[in-house]
Amino acid sequence: MSQSAPGAPTNRESGADTAPFDALIIGAGFSGLYQLHCLRDKLGLRVQVLEMADDVGGTWYWNRYPGARCDSESHSYCYAFSEEIYREWSWTERYPGPAEIRRYLRFVADRLDLLRDVRFETRVTGAEYDEGANLWRVHTDDGRTRSAQFLITAVGCLSAANIPKIPGLERFEGQWAHTGQWPHEGIDFRGKRVGQIGTGSTGIQAAPVIAETAAHLTVFQRTANYSIPARNGPLTEADQQTYKDEFGDLRRIMHEASNGHPFLISQRSARETPAAERRQVYEQAWEKGGLRFRATFADLLVDEAANETAASFIKEKIRQIVRDPETARKLATIDHPFATKRPPVDSHYFETFNRDNVSLVDIREDPIEEITPGGIRTRSQEYPLDVIVFATGFDAMSGPLLNLNLTGRNGLRLAEAWTAGPVNTLGLQVAGFPNLFTITGPGSPSVLCNMPVAIEQHVEWITDCIAHMREQGHERIETTPEAMDKWVRHVNEAANATLLPKANSSWYLGANVPGKPRVFMPYAGGMARYRRICEQVAGDGYTEFVFDA
Ligand code: NAP
Repeated sequence: MSQSAPGAPTNRESGADTAPFDALIIGAGFSGLYQLHCLRDKLGLRVQVLEMADDVGGTWYWNRYPGARCDSESHSYCYAFSEEIYREWSWTERYPGPAEIRRYLRFVADRLDLLRDVRFETRVTGAEYDEGANLWRVHTDDGRTRSAQFLITAVGCLSAANIPKIPGLERFEGQWAHTGQWPHEGIDFRGKRVGQIGTGSTGIQAAPVIAETAAHLTVFQRTANYSIPARNGPLTEADQQTYKDEFGDLRRIMHEASNGHPFLISQRSARETPAAERRQVYEQAWEKGGLRFRATFADLLVDEAANETAASFIKEKIRQIVRDPETARKLATIDHPFATKRPPVDSHYFETFNRDNVSLVDIREDPIEEITPGGIRTRSQEYPLDVIVFATGFDAMSGPLLNLNLTGRNGLRLAEAWTAGPVNTLGLQVAGFPNLFTITGPGSPSVLCNMPVAIEQHVEWITDCIAHMREQGHERIETTPEAMDKWVRHVNEAANATLLPKANSSWYLGANVPGKPRVFMPYAGGMARYRRICEQVAGDGYTEFVFDA
């Protein structure tokens, strides 16, 4: 994974890196780049970004699997802090792919001259807070240690790959890869027998593309999933111009919407809408495609009967599309309400099962027992394979933070503080870890929101907080155990007011990773409400936090 992309930046260590920084930022994706811009260019701080990859991109650097594409529409999956920058970039498709997103981030990085303060190919191996000096000491895999007053993690929510420990993988003689660590040179599936494990957002995108060239694709499904057609397509110049002209309105809607997307959620109730009319609404949303399907009615995520109307509509579509009744049954036997697991959008996923070279194995009915040198063996038979694709998701939200090996005050390790699951205040700070901010940490709306919208709000809040500290002469900020209890209670209440906790195997709950504590991690109260809470905390003098304790 350390292979250089053409034209990749090659910033290396310099002597100046050894003096303490005002802030160190970990990660050069959407969050890290914007945080660098805000702290360096608005506050005038001395800042450096540490990034393990050899280029910007974050999640889009690593996720290069076949069919990878963002589910947020391109005109909203970008920064909105600068209308000028927004207008300078033109997206080519309704949904952007990884290469276009990387090009976009490079464009922003160049435009704001960010790269001179990014150190690539520099992986953080651990960091500890030095209380006497009020500095974070940050260690990297090149054996160096840098120091900074503030440490800001911008490591994303879905960056720690979950590779299931299926016995025998080490003996597999074919090629295998996890979608989130996809080889840059790609995998040539031509003439190959491919097994794909996982049918989440990733697997549902990958399968149709793999099937186009593979000799045979076997999809191993543990939990059947809903999916809505994406209806991707090129954007015309007129489309591009319209989005630019509507920038102000789009930004306002994204800020006011609970999910950060540039469309309004209907105020109507599915339960109270007459069946024929409701069906028409679903049909139109199905034709239009994308995450807008979730916005068709206000009660889909809070009322089981309302949800069932959407769920049964999608299951009916699956049965209509998939010709083999047994395959259709397996695909449409879905054990959770619609959208209680992150709902995928797809390009011809269900249609793929009509191809002669694609088959589906339901591993609840016929579990995988081991990986053999020649393939995958379930309880009933062996499937000979040349390639295994793990579309098995991530140790989400808390995983990337725990992987950093952070140690706070008095030797407290983050892993110890989070033994029973992640606890923090506003998703942004953990008691015992002064001057550490976690962008889109557990307890933030992040993954339930259009990510760039969530990221901009976090980055701006952190920037304002540090500016406030500078103005007031504060050196240290830390949340308290009481504030964390309060926030965790509120996060739980917000989740329990929805149907979201009803999906037992959801990564929102950490249930996809064996042994991970089951805690509903994202804040389900909505981005707009979260923004108001954060503004109030800051406006009231950063209640929930203590300065210079
Ligand atoms: P995911 O939603 O967690 O799906 C992982 C899949 O692997 C599930 O079908 C899961 O089954 C299966 N799986 C996990 N461990 C397994 C095991 N030991 N044996 C058999 N099957 C196993 O992961 P993802 O699809 O990578 O998506 C993660 C998130 O990334 C998405 O929800 C989304 O937020 C984001 N994402 C976004 C986009 C986009 O914007 N276009 C694209 C891809 C991903 P169970 O359901 O039974 O656990």
